[in-house]
Amino acid sequence: MYLKSLTLNGFKSFAKKGELEFSTAITAIVGPNGSGKSNVAEAFRFVLGEQSIKSMRGKRGEDLIFNGSTSVSRANRASVTITLDNAPKNGNRIFPLDFDEITIERVVNRDGTNEYAINGSKTRLKDVQELLAVANIGPTGHHIISQGEADRILSASPRERREMIEDALGLKVYQFKKLESERKLKKTQENIVQVEALRREVVPHLKFLERQIKKFERSQALQAELQMVYAEYLKREDTYIAFHYDRLTLAKRVPEERRAELAHIFHDAQEKLKKSERNEARDELLQLEKNIREARERRQNMARKEGQLEGQIVFLERQIQEHTKKQEREDDTPIPRAELKKVFAHIETGSTSALQSGDVKSLSRVLTDVLKSFHMLLTHTFNRDEVSIGERLTEEHAVLCNDREVMVREIAHIEAEEAKLARVYEEMKKAIETEGEESRDAERKLFAIMQEQRDVEQTIDKLERELMVIERDRQEFKNELQEAVSLIGRKVGMYFEFEVVDELGVVPHERIVSEERSLQYNRKKELERMKIRLEELGMGSGEEVLKEYNEVKARDEFLVREITDLTESVQKLEALIQELTNDLNEQFVAGIEKIGTEFNRFFILMFGGGGAELLRVKPKVRAPKEEDVALEIDMQEETEVEEGIEIDVKLPNKKVHGLDMLSGGERALTSIALIFAMSQVNPPLFVILDETDAALDEANSRRYGDMISALAERSQLILITHNRETMGRAGVLYGVTMAGDGVSKLLSVKFDEAVTVAK
Ligand code: ATP
Repeated sequence: MYLKSLTLNGFKSFAKKGELEFSTAITAIVGPNGSGKSNVAEAFRFVLGEQSIKSMRGKRGEDLIFNGSTSVSRANRASVTITLDNAPKNGNRIFPLDFDEITIERVVNRDGTNEYAINGSKTRLKDVQELLAVANIGPTGHHIISQGEADRILSASPRERREMIEDALGLKVYQFKKLESERKLKKTQENIVQVEALRREVVPHLKFLERQIKKFERSQALQAELQMVYAEYLKREDTYIAFHYDRLTLAKRVPEERRAELAHIFHDAQEKLKKSERNEARDELLQLEKNIREARERRQNMARKEGQLEGQIVFLERQIQEHTKKQEREDDTPIPRAELKKVFAHIETGSTSALQSGDVKSLSRVLTDVLKSFHMLLTHTFNRDEVSIGERLTEEHAVLCNDREVMVREIAHIEAEEAKLARVYEEMKKAIETEGEESRDAERKLFAIMQEQRDVEQTIDKLERELMVIERDRQEFKNELQEAVSLIGRKVGMYFEFEVVDELGVVPHERIVSEERSLQYNRKKELERMKIRLEELGMGSGEEVLKEYNEVKARDEFLVREITDLTESVQKLEALIQELTNDLNEQFVAGIEKIGTEFNRFFILMFGGGGAELLRVKPKVRAPKEEDVALEIDMQEETEVEEGIEIDVKLPNKKVHGLDMLSGGERALTSIALIFAMSQVNPPLFVILDETDAALDEANSRRYGDMISALAERSQLILITHNRETMGRAGVLYGVTMAGDGVSKLLSVKFDEAVTVAK
């Protein structure tokens, strides 16, 4: 006994609170027409979640609320509460709620809004439906047969019938589960689409970041490589420059010193040369030449004059001879003593002083005087006239001789002077010649010095050029070092300790410094190439990219996991749906089989023969219209599932078969048989039958009563009836009355009362 009670308050004609308790297997509700019995059946529908107002004989929710009467004012809300037993039986509760009793309340307000509550807690309709589905109380209401609705199951379409049967078979739980799963599946598929969309956004970014990372890794590798190449390059460069700088600086010192020396030597030599080149000597020489020339001219003049004197002297001497000859003839002429004494005195005076001086010149003059004096004495004419001519000639001759002597002496003097000048001239000329020789020597020396200077300069130049190259290299080395620091940071410093190694092992210092320079330039070119590659790869902070990459990667992985999880869910749900579909189909097929058997049994029982069967049919697929072609596949899929139920009956002793051939009563019996069959296979907690028995004659009423008794063993029955036979089967009877106030009232009645009330 699961159904415990039903409370109505403001529902339809039940203006006031009224309660029905269902303590027995069969409860009959009796009362006159229009008293509100069917409203009770509808109250069941209402509280169980019926959404069709029409099926409760209303147009709007408001129609379900007591509308007032002449004496009673209308209600604001209609409420119906059903109480179900949920105490564990054989350790199991029928409803999955930890309560021994479950009340479900539904309220409808005048504004048409509905409220649901389970055990006083507000809930949704869906929760109510799901809860009830567990107890096989579905919304199709197969267990609530309203008045005049007895053959609803017969008039329904095969598809509607299938739904009712599924409901009756308790497959609604599966249906709900399936629907829920399908809803979840849809949601999950939508999620997948969403997550995939998210991932589509993430993936290109990730790819981009991956490329960045690769770039960064390549950049890192390149940097490491660059570091090594740099180390070797810098080590070699440093070694080379240091060595050659020292070498050249040292090498330069010798020629530079020599240059300074040569400058001195050159200066001296130049001075010397300058001196030797002076023209003083030449001027002197010219002066000498002039002097010699003048002396010669003077001498020649003198010689000419002397020649003239000579001529005069010769002429005079001839005159003197002639005169003497004339005188000789006069030799016998005595010389006066006084004259002799005079001559003697003159000689004596002269010779005495000459002898005293001892001078040869003086002596020769004295001698000449003596000769002259005697000559005059001899030639002296004492004949006065004759004597004076002789004297005059001799005197004149003496003067001329004297002159000539002076001249000769003069000439001799000039000649001596000339000879002296010539000698000086010769000497000087010789000296000048000698000096010329010397200056040529000095010149040669100077040239040699200059040559050496040029050589030295060349050497210095060469060394300086080399040094300049080294200086330039050194500057470049400094620049390179700075650039290296900016490129690979402090690790550059490792070049200090770096050992240059080749296939032969550690490269010795000598080989580094004597290496062909082009090799180092090639290394530099390689460095430049690497730098360009590095620049192309970019030197951005890899850490940030890595961080972002890891984040995005994590996000992508998360999304991938999500997709995997969701896909798994989809698969699980699909499997579940498939399983549920299979279960449904299986149980449906099995259920139909059982219902069919029961149906046939009840039918034979009712009609005393004949037969009834349930046929599973696939509705005929209508010829697809053009616009439906695209949906064909869907439709086919639908039709496959959409298996309907067809009913075939055969009455005893009649040839015709099929529902259409039945009379009203036969139809009622057939539907009752089917309803009962359905209830037998999967008995609902309760069945409400509203005047299902109205069309039955007495004999059939009895059979109906028997079936009810059988049915009551499996389900609680609430029977709204006017039928005596039916009333007789009930344990509890409720009478519904309606007085002049238009309000339905409930009262418990005895069988006899009931019979009266029903009338
Ligand atoms: P019968 O035996 O003829 O089938 P019944 O006992 O089943 O009759 P119901 O159809 O349950 O009677 O009751 C109908 C009565 O309920 C009518 O009198 C109707 O006026 C009344 N009724 C229906 N809806 C309301 C409402 N909203 N407010 C007041 N009364 C209502």
